[in-house]
Parts: sequence; structure tokens; C-alpha cells
Amino acid sequence: MMESIPAAAVASASPDVAADGRRPGLTSELPPGLAEDLTEAMAEIHRRGWCDGTGGNFSCVASREPLVLLMAPSGVHKGRVRPDELIQVDRSGGVIAGSGKASAETALHLAIVETCRAGAVLHTHSQAGTLLSQWALEGNPQLPADTAQAGSLELTGLEMLKGLEGIHTHATSARLPVLANDQDLPQLAARARPLLPAAPHGLLIAGHGLYAWGRDLANAHRHLEILEFLLEQRWRQMLLQALSQHRTLQPEQV
Ligand SMILES: [Zn+2]
Repeated sequence: MMESIPAAAVASASPDVAADGRRPGLTSELPPGLAEDLTEAMAEIHRRGWCDGTGGNFSCVASREPLVLLMAPSGVHKGRVRPDELIQVDRSGGVIAGSGKASAETALHLAIVETCRAGAVLHTHSQAGTLLSQWALEGNPQLPADTAQAGSLELTGLEMLKGLEGIHTHATSARLPVLANDQDLPQLAARARPLLPAAPHGLLIAGHGLYAWGRDLANAHRHLEILEFLLEQRWRQMLLQALSQHRTLQPEQV
């Protein structure tokens, strides 16, 4: 998990914070069912093994103007969060309702919401996303040596690509941007912004995980499942290819 936005910084931006840390609630202004839908999605994503421990972070847009994100607080188990435990966060990343701190990763959620007009952002720490993103940036001999900060991972020729909005044939490819990990989230968000408009509803952070998004929560969840499938398929395909090549080198099997 990333560092959280310091409580002091949040409190100073929210003068109405009570002594117990609870902020004035906006829960009654939330779109009906949104908090329940988000916690159900988080529990399902956890069941898939894509956000073990307290990993991952998940948000949806509760209001576009002014911009308000509904999300889980930092450092909690995302499979067990109740709807009334969610927090609401403003455009600056400050908590405006609910108890708890906003993850520093909120900066990247906000960048995606603003740049892509996304209605939900789902960030996982899956094995496949962690493994392949690191390989794409650091372990791929086909990349130029100066690719220290950004690379990409191409997913090509598969029927499941059609699950990404805007793709209608398997005979194509999606190029996922891959950024080097950074504990300075505002800086990471600034590096991500120019890559977001052309990204296929997803972005990888090396050795860290996947961000997937969509116009609403259901659409983002669909893109997340598709991208996680494609990542899973990709490393298995690479393993199979390596095993096949290894076999052809064994004299007794030639
Ligand atoms: Zn993360």
C-alpha cells in the first residue's frame, strides 16, 4: 500500500472535522445504491485474489460538479468494507465525508477520472499485473535500455480483446502503458496523464499492479476482468512458449 495523505493536511482543508475525526456526511447525496454497488464490487474483486491484504483501491464518481469520489479509506481490507465505511474525497484529494484517510493513490484516480471522464477506477494488485508490468519495464530484452520510466505491454490476437469498449475484432492489439512505480503519487499521476487518452481503459504500474476504468462502475468492472484475463493469458502463453523452445533444444526429444 502507498503512504496515506497526512491526516493533518486533510484536517486543515476541512475545518468542520469533529474531535473524533468524523467529517460532515454527504451520504444522503450519494446516488442510490452506489455505496452498496462499490462495496460489492470490491468484495468480488477480492474473491478473485486481485487485492490481497489491504492492497488495491477502488473509487467511483459520486458527483461530477463539484467532483466527489466515493472510495474505500486507506489501509483497510477491501473485501470487508461496509457501505457506511466508505469515504468521499474532493478534487484535491481531501476527505470531505466519512472516517479514515484517503490513499495517496487517490491522485492517480483523480487524474484518470479527469482525463478520461471515467465514472469508476478499479486498481488491483494481482499476481499477473505485478509480474508482467515488472517484466515489461525491466525484464524485456526487446525494449531499449533507456526505457526506465515508461514502456508498454502489447496484448494481441485474442477474442477477449472484444470485451474492451471500442474493439470489435480479435485481429487487433491493445497496448497497455507501463509506468515505473513511484511513492510520489502526484509525480506518478503527472507522468500518467499524457498516456491516458490512448490507453485501452487500463494502465500498469511496474511491480505494483493495474488501474482499469470505465464510464461507470459496471463498465470499469468489465474492463478490469478483461484486462486481468488478458494479463493472465499473456504470462501463461510466455511460459508455454519458453517450455516449447526448451523442449526443442533437448537432444533426446529432437
Ligand atoms: Zn496500489
